[in-house]
Amino acid sequence: MLNEPIPLKKRRPRRVIFWILGILIVIGAIGAFAAYKLFFSGSSRSERWLDYWNWRQDPDKVAEFVIEPGIRCDDSAFAFPTRGVIFGLWDESYRVGHRHQGLDIFPGTGPGVTPVYAAHAGYLRRLADWKSTVIIRISEDPLQPNRQIWTYYTHMADEEGNSFISEEFPPGATEVWVEAGTFLGYVGNYSGNAVNPTGVHLHISIVKDDGEGTFTNELDINNTYDPTPYFNLPVDYNENPDDFPVCAGTLTVEDWDLVPNNE
Ligand SMILES: [Zn+2]
Repeated sequence: MLNEPIPLKKRRPRRVIFWILGILIVIGAIGAFAAYKLFFSGSSRSERWLDYWNWRQDPDKVAEFVIEPGIRCDDSAFAFPTRGVIFGLWDESYRVGHRHQGLDIFPGTGPGVTPVYAAHAGYLRRLADWKSTVIIRISEDPLQPNRQIWTYYTHMADEEGNSFISEEFPPGATEVWVEAGTFLGYVGNYSGNAVNPTGVHLHISIVKDDGEGTFTNELDINNTYDPTPYFNLPVDYNENPDDFPVCAGTLTVEDWDLVPNNE
């Protein structure tokens, strides 16, 4: 009877309890992390977004980070397309699983007020059902002339979808040549959902060609290029999670025909 394996029988249930506890702890930790990510997404992803909320109370808080239209940093290939502060960077995550494909430039004005200009010359296209978007084909990438790229400008409508795009570019416009600095429309807040518009900002991204003469799906970051070398601004989130992108080098300003704010 002494050899009866009583201790083993006693141990087994204990092991099960340890396993259950361990699994619960892991599940709890994952849940807490997910809740943290969800809670903070959109509001305080980084120090820069904390400043966003302060800035809405007091625009002077970020006045030093405002970039003017037509600015080139160290003779960058692209000139800055509007007046505003870059809050959202390339490859920044706004929510779980999201990777931002472009730059979000906030003018600090209401919708339909701040003009948008072409950052680089090319052939403009506006699909028939595009209310807030134009895309410009650049047949020779200024950084890699053997390839074609596209520049995508969006949110140029109000929350109801009333377009702020220039009348020069009606729905269905195709292959319309525009010089850098051409007025494209005004910054808006169209999200596709009138109940939940975006904050007023311009989203601009650099989109890959599909190799057959048209653009790829801009919503996937893998179909976009890091805008950093095109603007010579630190706009890759992986390199610059917290600071506002500003030019660290020499500024030049294009002599564009600027359009007054629509106020
Ligand atoms: Zn964006």
